[in-house]
Amino acid sequence: MVEPRGLDPAVIDLHAVRADTPGNHRGVFLDSAGSSLPPVQVLDEVVAHLRREAEVGGYRAATERADDLAAGYEDFARLLGCEADEVAFTDSATRSWLVAFDAIPLAPGDRILCTEAEYGGNAVPLLRRAAEVGAEVAPIPSDATGAVDVQALRTMLDERVRLVSLVHVPTNGGLVNPAAAVIEAAHEAGALVLLDACQSAGQVDLSDLDADIVTGTGRKWLRGPRGTGFLVVRGRIRDRLQPRQVDLHSGTWDAPDRFSLRPDARVFELWESSVADRLGLIAAARYALALGVPNIEAAVRSRAEHLRSGLANLPGVTIHDLGEVRCGLVTFTVDGVPPTEVRDRLADQNITVTVSGTTSTQYDMTRRGLDLIVRASPHYFTSPAQLDKAIASVRELTRHP
Ligand SMILES: *Cc1c(COP(=O)(O)O)cnc(C)c1O
Repeated sequence: MVEPRGLDPAVIDLHAVRADTPGNHRGVFLDSAGSSLPPVQVLDEVVAHLRREAEVGGYRAATERADDLAAGYEDFARLLGCEADEVAFTDSATRSWLVAFDAIPLAPGDRILCTEAEYGGNAVPLLRRAAEVGAEVAPIPSDATGAVDVQALRTMLDERVRLVSLVHVPTNGGLVNPAAAVIEAAHEAGALVLLDACQSAGQVDLSDLDADIVTGTGRKWLRGPRGTGFLVVRGRIRDRLQPRQVDLHSGTWDAPDRFSLRPDARVFELWESSVADRLGLIAAARYALALGVPNIEAAVRSRAEHLRSGLANLPGVTIHDLGEVRCGLVTFTVDGVPPTEVRDRLADQNITVTVSGTTSTQYDMTRRGLDLIVRASPHYFTSPAQLDKAIASVRELTRHP
């Protein structure tokens, strides 16, 4: 397999990252697309801060870590290729997406284009708000490989298009959409691009992408705590947005009848948050930066390709990943064995996979006539031997369905 940018997946020291990941010794963990195993560096940060809060109270404990909390914006700016004042922290990718989307003014007759890989959590608010304001949502067709068709997008872009909602990597497969080309086409037509990087952040290098808005989560490929998310809003589009949900952190109550809003992306944050989880999220970003995201990308692709080709060679197993450029999500079905049963029988052997269904990705699943598929997502800490064990276990299922 050709590695992206000539990188060697072996640059990541498998022994070291496995030693940092206690959960990895319990079995074969293949659900980093769902909720990954955090390294001890993340776990220790969260637990230590909770203990400190119990000793001195949450306010003093946060003040003690003020420098680290401030540096977190710089870390995410490095990870995502933006400025620190373009970063906000939230409690999920969906929260990030919602606060940014709700801030985009929409009028009757406006159009929003999305990818066929659109995520259910984005589609529900998209369709609801479009119905409320009299705007229209249209999925951009996919090309023969299953990736978003940039030529088709160009023919759909006109002055009515306010926003392109771009899912970088879908929740239901290894496809990596051609984000740079989509962003370029949308910008030429004056449309904003909202990049859902929930499945790419932490496994695909995003630092060269120039989307106007980027949303992502902590718990998936970044290996952070649950209940954490991040948002990038570029400074250049800030005056095109109208933040809806603002508080005394997003703004200042300057006089009894006057307030002002923050000029940076933190206008999208609320004052209260879980500081322990925030510190854990920052530790997760630092861990990824220390390994090097391009190295992570090469290692994850190599693991996923190992698993994908091993499964593809089994009679009775069908791989469902689309696209030519693929990443760490591997989706498949086993003839005669329902996906939930595949998941449960693998779980009996301490192999963790999950399933992905129609309501998460309606456009795509309906178009392909799929209703449920098994999703296995190895990270760089999964060893080739663990992948072989998973492949052997799926082989058993095909023999004894
Ligand atoms: C998981 C996922 C989300 C939602 O992330 P949350 O942190 O659960 O809000 C959004 N988009 C995609 C593509 C996802 O896979």
